Amino acid sequence: MHLIEKISDCKNFINRYRKDRKSIGFVPTMGFLHKGHLSLARRARAENDIVIVSIFVNPTQFGPNEDFEKYPRNLKKDLDLLRKEEEVDIVFVPSVEEMYGSLESPTTSYRLQAMSLVDCLCGKSRPGHFEGVCQVVEKLFNIIKPDKAYFGQKDYQQCLVIRKMVEDLKLPIKIVICPTVREKDGLAMSSRNVYLNEEERRAALVLYRMVKDAEEQIKDHRRGGRSAALTKDVIEYCKKEIQNQSFVTLDYFEIRDAEDLSEVNKFDRPVVIAGAIRAGETRLIDNVLVLC
Ligand code: AMP
Repeated sequence: MHLIEKISDCKNFINRYRKDRKSIGFVPTMGFLHKGHLSLARRARAENDIVIVSIFVNPTQFGPNEDFEKYPRNLKKDLDLLRKEEEVDIVFVPSVEEMYGSLESPTTSYRLQAMSLVDCLCGKSRPGHFEGVCQVVEKLFNIIKPDKAYFGQKDYQQCLVIRKMVEDLKLPIKIVICPTVREKDGLAMSSRNVYLNEEERRAALVLYRMVKDAEEQIKDHRRGGRSAALTKDVIEYCKKEIQNQSFVTLDYFEIRDAEDLSEVNKFDRPVVIAGAIRAGETRLIDNVLVLC
């Protein structure tokens, strides 16, 4: 496993792989790895000759009052995990300077248009977040030029935004969306879970319970067991349950079209049930897809 910090070194390795006609699978991460990240690396391993994982806490996707400075980092542990658990060929760990030069005027190429994909859910709660995500992922795609790139369904909106960027820029990269890996009790694994104290950790489960509850209600509705259940009724019920949970504040809870995140009134197409909460100070997200 090669640990690479410089873009030029990374490109040199990749040129060699390309000459040998090796396929490249890429997993972008912000580190502090857990089993969710490792599941992406495993899938990449199964589907490609070469696996590259990047670890880069991208400053441009954090808002001014967000947790960029205190975002958990532990490179040594991450490298140990990757070495032990997955056969990764390259871990790319660039510095902020390497990626952006000066952060005063970070270069941008792809411009996200205002559209339903980014105007809602996390895009609404975290203005500029997806612009920052596209900025770093486009750079990483340019450096690594992977055949396939692996993302977690936990960040469902991010998956759709990246897919749209790849389509718009005509990049020859397949975006693979992998299932959310959860703790035994259902809490979605997240690097930020480390911030939670015991009470918050217990309380945070309400989000998973409610996306599952909404899923059941939709399935019931589709089976014809309930009459005219509209998305509004389901959403209101789940929101109330979350608002009644101590140590938790609700950011959003919505049911949207699974393809373009437009609003839906009825359950007549694939939908995503997506929510975000704060448990204490920690912002957590989760979602479930309900296909037809
Ligand atoms: P992050 O380091 O949080 O930016 O995440 C890097 C990648 O891992 C993203 O594609 C995430 O969606 C994915 N990921 C994070 N948590 C999970 C999880 N619990 N299950 C599956 N994938 C995940």
